[in-house]
Amino acid sequence: MSKTIAFTTSFPVEVVFAAGHKPLDLNNVFVTGNAPEHVYNAELKGFPRTICSWIKGNYHAAHSIKADEVLGVVQGDCANSQSLLEILAEDGFKIWHFSFPPERDRAELDREIRKLEEHYGVSRSQTQKAKQRLDQIRLKLAELDRWTWKEGLVSGLENHYWLVNSSDFQGDPDRFEEELDQFMKTAARRDPFKPRLRLAYLGVPPIYKDLYDTLHKLGGEIVFNEVQRQFAMPTLQEDILDQYLLYTYPYSIRERLEDIKTQLSLRKIEAVVSYTQSFCHLQIDNILLKRHIPLPFLTLEGDQPEAVDSRTLLRLESFMEVHG
Ligand code: SF4
Repeated sequence: MSKTIAFTTSFPVEVVFAAGHKPLDLNNVFVTGNAPEHVYNAELKGFPRTICSWIKGNYHAAHSIKADEVLGVVQGDCANSQSLLEILAEDGFKIWHFSFPPERDRAELDREIRKLEEHYGVSRSQTQKAKQRLDQIRLKLAELDRWTWKEGLVSGLENHYWLVNSSDFQGDPDRFEEELDQFMKTAARRDPFKPRLRLAYLGVPPIYKDLYDTLHKLGGEIVFNEVQRQFAMPTLQEDILDQYLLYTYPYSIRERLEDIKTQLSLRKIEAVVSYTQSFCHLQIDNILLKRHIPLPFLTLEGDQPEAVDSRTLLRLESFMEVHG
């Protein structure tokens, strides 16, 4: 019987599809649902104010979709994941832990994926078959990404939407692909846009509802969504191990920086917006991003799922006035 497998961040989702289950990224469920209510409900359960809103959102989202199992990535993502899994287990959820190796270690990653395959009762060749299917869609997403930075046919917001949703293909790759095809047919007929300022967006996806629209109105366009692009596995590899060794997000800031710098130059980026989340350990990585990226660099810090607040708006306006 097909089960809903909720998860906390991208992992080799091929295994879950190969088993015939429906994977759902809790971050997407949280942010596309009634996000303030998810946070509020988690706080009612005792989650403190000083815990990142994404964690609170994931917690309540798992309840709202009545997940059959929650898969948490406890190494290579969030410092809070282990505790999130503990409380979800206490609430009665079945739990599975997945760990990316701290270094890009092939044998360790292989062991972890094999454990996952055993858990869901699939073989490596079934996983590889599921990967081949998903890669057909990922190829289209790579084209959509190129249409953003090279052809000026796809906005930063649209790019964000399609790439961020490739973490779980909204649980239904066939439907996702149909909608993607429709979107690309429409986008292909557009007149290309030329932004006043070509921007990169670094960091975890924003909790703000309207950041992309706000930047667009100010004359900037995001033509590189760093982490979202990683979710879509931009450089396809035949082997699942090669694929997830190349994926930068779970590893160190050095791997991220290497990818970021290549893309900044390829995409002729003029300025960087680096997003950080309140109470997130990745704020420390942001110090290094800023140190190593020789471009105008604006750090934003979001907290609650809401529209861009007036102080952030003022900072965005000033940044665009100076660099746009
Ligand atoms: S934003 Fe940071 S603290 Fe929040 S869930 Fe993501 S990694 Fe964890």
